[in-house]
Amino acid sequence: KKYVYDFKEGNMSMRGLLGGKGANLAEMTNIGLPVPQGFTITTEACLKYYDEDKKLWDELLKEIDEHLETVEKLQGKKFSDANDPLLFSVRSGAVISMPGMMDTILNLGLNDETVKGLARATNNERFAYDSYRRFIQMFSDVAIGIPKVLFDTKLDNMKENKGVTQDTDLDANDLKKLVEQFKEVYKQEMKEDFPQEPKKQLYKAVEAVFSSWNNNRAIVYRNLNGISHDLGTAVNVQSMVFGNKGETSGTGVAFTRNPATGENKLFGEFLMNAQGEDVVAGIRTPKSIDTLRDINPDCYKQFVDTTHILENHYKDMQDIEFTIEEGRLFFLQTRNGKRTAQAAVNVAVDLVEEGLLTKEEAIMKVEPKQLDQLLHPTFEIEALKKATMLTKGLPASPGAASGKIYFHADEAVEASKKGEEVLLVRQETSPEDIEGMVCSQGILTSRGGMTSHAAVVARGMGKCCVAGCSEVRVDEELKTLRVGDRVFKEGDEISLDGSTGAVYDAKIAKAKAELSGKFGKFMEWVNEVKRLGVYTNADTPRDAKQGRIFGAEGIGLCRTEHMFFSENRIPAVRRMIISRSLEERVKALNELLPMQREDFYGIFKEMREYPVVIRLLDPPLHEFLPKEEKDLQDIANSMGISYEDIRDRVIELEEFNPMLGHRGCRLAVSYPEIARMQARAIIEAAIEIKSEVPNIKPEIMVPLVGHINELKFVKEQMVDEINKVFAEKGEKVEYLIGTMIEVPRAALTADQIATEADFFSFGTNDLTQMTFGFSRDDSSRFLADYNNKKVFDFAPFEQVDQIGVGKLMKMAVEDGRKSNPDLILGICGEHGGDPSSVEFCNALGLTYVSCSPYRVPIARLAAAQAVI
Ligand code: ADP
Ligand code: MG
Ligand code: MG
Repeated sequence: KKYVYDFKEGNMSMRGLLGGKGANLAEMTNIGLPVPQGFTITTEACLKYYDEDKKLWDELLKEIDEHLETVEKLQGKKFSDANDPLLFSVRSGAVISMPGMMDTILNLGLNDETVKGLARATNNERFAYDSYRRFIQMFSDVAIGIPKVLFDTKLDNMKENKGVTQDTDLDANDLKKLVEQFKEVYKQEMKEDFPQEPKKQLYKAVEAVFSSWNNNRAIVYRNLNGISHDLGTAVNVQSMVFGNKGETSGTGVAFTRNPATGENKLFGEFLMNAQGEDVVAGIRTPKSIDTLRDINPDCYKQFVDTTHILENHYKDMQDIEFTIEEGRLFFLQTRNGKRTAQAAVNVAVDLVEEGLLTKEEAIMKVEPKQLDQLLHPTFEIEALKKATMLTKGLPASPGAASGKIYFHADEAVEASKKGEEVLLVRQETSPEDIEGMVCSQGILTSRGGMTSHAAVVARGMGKCCVAGCSEVRVDEELKTLRVGDRVFKEGDEISLDGSTGAVYDAKIAKAKAELSGKFGKFMEWVNEVKRLGVYTNADTPRDAKQGRIFGAEGIGLCRTEHMFFSENRIPAVRRMIISRSLEERVKALNELLPMQREDFYGIFKEMREYPVVIRLLDPPLHEFLPKEEKDLQDIANSMGISYEDIRDRVIELEEFNPMLGHRGCRLAVSYPEIARMQARAIIEAAIEIKSEVPNIKPEIMVPLVGHINELKFVKEQMVDEINKVFAEKGEKVEYLIGTMIEVPRAALTADQIATEADFFSFGTNDLTQMTFGFSRDDSSRFLADYNNKKVFDFAPFEQVDQIGVGKLMKMAVEDGRKSNPDLILGICGEHGGDPSSVEFCNALGLTYVSCSPYRVPIARLAAAQAVI
């Protein structure tokens, strides 16, 4: 079995075996780009390493040695040659890129002898010792686990003693001394000398990469992102090129387009006379890539040309790492760049217009859940005018965020658990802060650039981030943030604008998002492709309007109970509930009638010819009654009846298990006058709007039906009332009466029920509750244990359980259609906005999915992706 591949032997389709970095190094090699040559040890070798009790086995070492020789021949230099050594970087490369999770070792192969050879061969002693001190530190940190800070302190002391601030201010002699000090640190920590044998260094480094696959940071990252733990990581061993050879050398990172906005303009940073992580570590302030044009125009041109080659080749925005060695450009990495949702959409649209992608390919480039970022508010323009800007940092990841500031990840997590909106404020973030970042509305750092840890991770998460805010003094111990003479303490509120980099001194109101520009165009393409209708759940004209703005093609669920709760109506609702006689109840209902009619009129007006599905009153009546004695007394007074009467009624209505109690169509069986009033309100409103919307055709939905006779009974009552309305008005409208499928028995007898129903709408919240027997309201407590103990790897109230609940749905669809070929089928549970459930609904052949207004664009995109 082959465990090692030269770059020349691989290609981009071998990602699973070579990891992302290795596959792309191979691909770049094959398309003729200048890539320092090397080889990749496969992910299979990593897995075998764990099987071999974490040891590198002999055949593997032999294979590594063979490939090492191949590279030596290619480069015309020898590893461990004391006169002019070939040096390597050892780089991890997982299948799915995991930024900052595993560390790279550079300049491997240096020792007390080869460093002299390197100095002689390059005629650059400073460079040789700079490389050596870096190697000792990285090797000790990454491969051995000696704390980095022990070395950093020595470096800082050296600079301080010399009275300089930059690493580049140290000369060859300083660096020589530093190397001695570093070796001393190593010896103190390890009780042995720094390893001198290059091959031993190499093997040890390879092992370190393998074992880093299971370090804590990597495990946390994989858990957070749902990445499998059994993929393993590849190891890339690559000959070094040097950005630290002086002022004609340098190193940098660049995106072929702006990863925050998607703008088609090269975006990147570099440093001259620097190596590796210098650019992202925030030690020196990097320069913008544009300025490379002035420093080395040829190199700049070659760079720009290559970005085009890479984009054309990968058909996507690339994130590139490069090094310039004495004016010669080398490419060290390329990958599809991580980006904000805004950038994802803009790039996808641009790539279609540039002819690189088809619309369908572009649609597949955007993750539906990512759209969430675009649908969330920005700061209200008026509120923003009144706010005071404290300072500006880098606009690292767009969005608007307000919250209470916390200086440590764990404290941010605590506060957010208490329901606070929090902002994480740090000098800079590191992988240990990830959970704190997840729970925060936004992130503010005082150090680091556009490619710092905070910036990269925040963009990946779609979180607002302002990075490198250099006027801000963050004291993580005292928990203060200072800007000039203003001091903010833990828990104080500020606001961040990740699109401009601005930091404001207070909370700021936010405004709603719209689908316009490229986003609008993208969503039009989505509509061209998708088959499923996407409706919204909306109880008010306002929600309906928001849903329309986001492209809803109807209302799949209009809950009437929400209309009952408003302050001016609740007295009449309560009177309706408390009444003992039919006359009293009808009187109260008659007060509610005009209000309901007005509600429906408003919604019809907003939705025009689009379908509107209105559900009859669903919750148990006791939910409308107060619990407190004082409130009960108030009702008694206002109704002129005794407190005891009221209390008795409350007790009568109490149920042990209200979710399985007197609700849904059961209410309409006991009190048909409620359903009659609602049907009348709906039909009267429809007649009223008919002059404006001739095709108006309201759909009335009966909840919680489990037996055909329940539906039949309620329907007869409503039809009778509706016919009365027609007679009174001398005018008719078309209407539909259908049912929810949310009681398992309804799904099981769908063939019967469909004979009475014009439509089915799957109420998957209740259907899930009743199929599993999990209480919607209480199950989150124990479902957390199910997740932690890996009993469940899915959340049944978020994603349709396709195997169980889905089987009921499938049965209902098939049986329902058999007995009623015109049956309209939809889903209105929370699941209607979940991409995987949308895909399932598409496969079931439903007519539409319905979800909350803010998830409509997500469902639309998921529906389009489901057919591609
Ligand atoms: P990460 O996955 O953290 O980005 P990399 O393996 O890409 O780690 O290495 C980080 C940096 O180290 C690169 O961006 C590059 O600057 C430097 N580097 C890696 N390999 C080489 C090499 N062969 N020659 C010069 N620099 C290298
Ligand atoms: Mg790194
Ligand atoms: Mg990299």
